[in-house]
Amino acid sequence: MDPALRVVMYHYVRDLPNTPFPSIKGMLTGEFIQQVRSLKERYEMATMESALAFLNGGYKPSRDLCLLTFDDGLKEHWAECTPVLAEQKIQGLFFLITGCMEDHCVAPVHMNHFLMASLDFNEYKGAFLRRLREMSPEASAAMDKVDLADAVRRYRWDTPEIAAFKSFFNFQLDANLRDRVVRRMFVEYLGDEASFSKDLYASWEEARQMRAAGMMLGGHSHQHKPLSGVSEQELDGDLKNCRRLLDAHLTPQPVWPFCYPYGKKDSYTGHAVGLLRDLEFACAFSTESGDNRPGAPLYSITRVDCKLALQ
Ligand SMILES: [Zn+2]
Repeated sequence: MDPALRVVMYHYVRDLPNTPFPSIKGMLTGEFIQQVRSLKERYEMATMESALAFLNGGYKPSRDLCLLTFDDGLKEHWAECTPVLAEQKIQGLFFLITGCMEDHCVAPVHMNHFLMASLDFNEYKGAFLRRLREMSPEASAAMDKVDLADAVRRYRWDTPEIAAFKSFFNFQLDANLRDRVVRRMFVEYLGDEASFSKDLYASWEEARQMRAAGMMLGGHSHQHKPLSGVSEQELDGDLKNCRRLLDAHLTPQPVWPFCYPYGKKDSYTGHAVGLLRDLEFACAFSTESGDNRPGAPLYSITRVDCKLALQ
């Protein structure tokens, strides 16, 4: 069979037992180091440039390509992953949430992860729904109407109960209302958002160091909202802000990739793809699963979760 491009996606990569949140779902740093070695043996490690040339039909490698991608601009991508990749002369692609870096906020999806890692799930869910009910009784009643099969498909690593709550939280609930509830809980349980943000995300200076070490940076939106879930006006502002800040803080790159927040097919629209083209993002990565072959659409590149990278 002709060679394919496998794009591996990473989120949290940390020495979990020695962090304040050992139950965060992520890959251990040691596992990551092992995996990179194994991938390097099995694949030709791609760069953004060689992957694009392959997809455009201009580069024909003798074996499968593998490209490593990292979502959310987390501090450990600078501290833990970049040194490993730089040492192996592998280029990683790192997708930054520009609003989190610029305004020192924490994306609600991450607030949710850390609240869930700090509280017993039932305690968290109860506290969340109680606060939500106070603000909007109709919104809290919608929790009973979550499509469970859909939730389990989206969150295959979670129990059905947690998957249903995440689905409700990330997709069904009005984003502004949700953010108000979760922000209030976050400050109550985990303290100051700005200082947490500075620990969680790489700074602009760290991102520049990653680039200097041979890594490639990309956009992951400004606010990390599902692009299909905001008005066209808000979407336009969000993507322009993202692009402007990347240009303002980072050195020029031959190409700028983008990665969709959440990333399933229904989390972005044709309109969003048009805006990304206008803003000269060269391609965009989804979280739909699978390998890519020449001719594959450049604005819906599929990826494989790091837990399945070697399967
Ligand atoms: Zn993300």
